[in-house]
Amino acid sequence: MGRSSYQSVAAPGVDLDSALEQRVQAEATRRLRFGPALADSVGMEFARFLWVPLAGYVAWLVFAYDFHFLDYVNLAFHEAGHVFLAPFGATLGILGGTVGQLFFPLACMLYFARQGQRSSALVCGVWLAESAMYVAHYMADARDMRLPLVGGEIHDWHWLLGRAGWLGACETLASSLHALAGIFAIAAVAALAWSLSATHTSASQISPARDSGSLKV
Ligand SMILES: [Zn+2]
Repeated sequence: MGRSSYQSVAAPGVDLDSALEQRVQAEATRRLRFGPALADSVGMEFARFLWVPLAGYVAWLVFAYDFHFLDYVNLAFHEAGHVFLAPFGATLGILGGTVGQLFFPLACMLYFARQGQRSSALVCGVWLAESAMYVAHYMADARDMRLPLVGGEIHDWHWLLGRAGWLGACETLASSLHALAGIFAIAAVAALAWSLSATHTSASQISPARDSGSLKV
């Protein structure tokens, strides 16, 4: 009895191995499909609200902009812009600072947009607007020249607007640039909030087993 039952179980031993292997493979497949999807869904719950602190930052930029940590990065690109455009004459060389500090965030924004990384592109859009506000801050100082100068004796906007005969309009021009940058930053944060919300909504409607790998924030 014991012998025969042992044999009846042992006889299909190969089948048991095969069944066990199938179970292991099924489990591995399930983990591959559902594991990351669950992690994604938890991460996305946080990611969909990433725009909130950014909105607070943008509100501060719009209403109370002042030189801060990000402007040290802008300053490096500003000085690099002067160096790159210096060979093309005095005007372009001096304008190069502004061109440089706007070029890099713009290039990053376009790069991420081309890669389909919408959220990263929009965050770079906020950076671009912030850098433009720094330009406006500098421009507003063109007539009075109270800001400390870095990397030279020439006040870029005093020189540029002075040559154009627009020194008297420096504050109006600066306010206009700040307002435009503010509108751009607000639009970028609004688009980010919408994008994250839309991604979350569509992601929650997708079967995790079917398309967990294609979810992008
Ligand atoms: Zn400069």
